[in-house]
Amino acid sequence: MHKGRWPDRELARFSLGGPHDPGGALTARRPGHLFWPVTSLLRTCGLLFKSWPDYPSWPVTVAFRIVALGLAVSALVFSSGLCAGCLRRPAPLERTEFMMDTVVTVKAFGASQEALSEAFDVMRRVDALMNRYSEDSDIGLLNLHAGREPVRLSDDTMECLEEAIRYAKISDGAFDPTLGPLIDLWGIGKRADFIPSREEIERALKLRGIDKIVLDPKTETGFLKVEGMKVDLGGIAKGFAVDRAALALKRRGIRSAIIDAGGNVYVIGKKPDGSEWRVGIRHPRKSDRMIAVVEVSDTAVVTSGDYQRYFEKNGVRYHHIFDPATGEPARKLISCTIICPSSTRADALSTAVFVLGPDLGMDLVERLPDVEAVLVTPRGEVLVSSGLKAAGNVRVLPW
Ligand code: ADP
Ligand code: MG
Repeated sequence: MHKGRWPDRELARFSLGGPHDPGGALTARRPGHLFWPVTSLLRTCGLLFKSWPDYPSWPVTVAFRIVALGLAVSALVFSSGLCAGCLRRPAPLERTEFMMDTVVTVKAFGASQEALSEAFDVMRRVDALMNRYSEDSDIGLLNLHAGREPVRLSDDTMECLEEAIRYAKISDGAFDPTLGPLIDLWGIGKRADFIPSREEIERALKLRGIDKIVLDPKTETGFLKVEGMKVDLGGIAKGFAVDRAALALKRRGIRSAIIDAGGNVYVIGKKPDGSEWRVGIRHPRKSDRMIAVVEVSDTAVVTSGDYQRYFEKNGVRYHHIFDPATGEPARKLISCTIICPSSTRADALSTAVFVLGPDLGMDLVERLPDVEAVLVTPRGEVLVSSGLKAAGNVRVLPW
């Protein structure tokens, strides 16, 4: 038996490979051995033992060995636990729910379950106020009483409607919150393969116009002037809900989180390691691929595409974003992503710029401060706004 650098005499007395451990199974034979740190510790304990006036009998030695081994193992387990603790990154809390007609995921670092619940509650509340298909929602009631009487609106609905009107003006009517009758006529995603006649489209378009919406902040009411008019906030409400959820998380002191409401992404702060969030923009024709990746922090990244709800007839795609000028699905872009600090604004602008197309749309983006865009044309060209290009935080992937 090789005894390493310890003299035989010493090993015989203080190592585990003594008379009661003839094989020396637990003894480190040389410093490089796997158990060497353990056995070194045991040896040190043994040296202490040596200083006892009477050298112990073998049952005491065995008891000692058991205790010493226990101590050594605990020390190892404890130190490895500490190391793992140092290296481990803080785990995020994550929750996914289906709401606002889409899959919504919130992932937050340093959050509690209550904070996550509050974020979802806030979004659910916005949906309950602005979902026009529910007759007791603010917008449902507003539409129901169109041409007859004003209805009381909550602060949030009032604010979202004001924002919608603002973006309708900014986009020269490309964003139009009064397209309810046209959207119902086409019924994209609700009834299959229906293409309305020109007359039907014209009739629906007669009921549009932000000039026919009357908002009175004093009485906290809204009124639609023409019977049959219908407000539809599908192009902005999700963004509004995400802004509210982000605010709720920030108020709870959360500094690193991502909210993803089916194409409406908002990132709070940076990732815990200090790097920016990488948000992928879906390839408009290959659902399992991305067309670009942006690296961002504290911002909304919102995409409108012609691939979310659509049907195809005779090789033509009919989708859910309409050009108010024609009453037909907008055809100048197939994907439009807006990056800006407000999710409400990003949502409204993603729909507006989708309708305006690459030229007028990119002009609008370049005119607005803090607004960037990634557009995809029907020919597969990817256009990036100047600010985003200059910042160098976008990577366009091959088609
Ligand atoms: P999504 O809601 O699918 O993420 P958008 O934000 O672009 O995509 O919103 C599309 C929705 O907005 C439609 O389903 C419809 O309710 C509404 N909408 C369609 N066309 C317009 C438009 N030109 N202006 C405002 N809202 C629109
Ligand atoms: Mg939108």
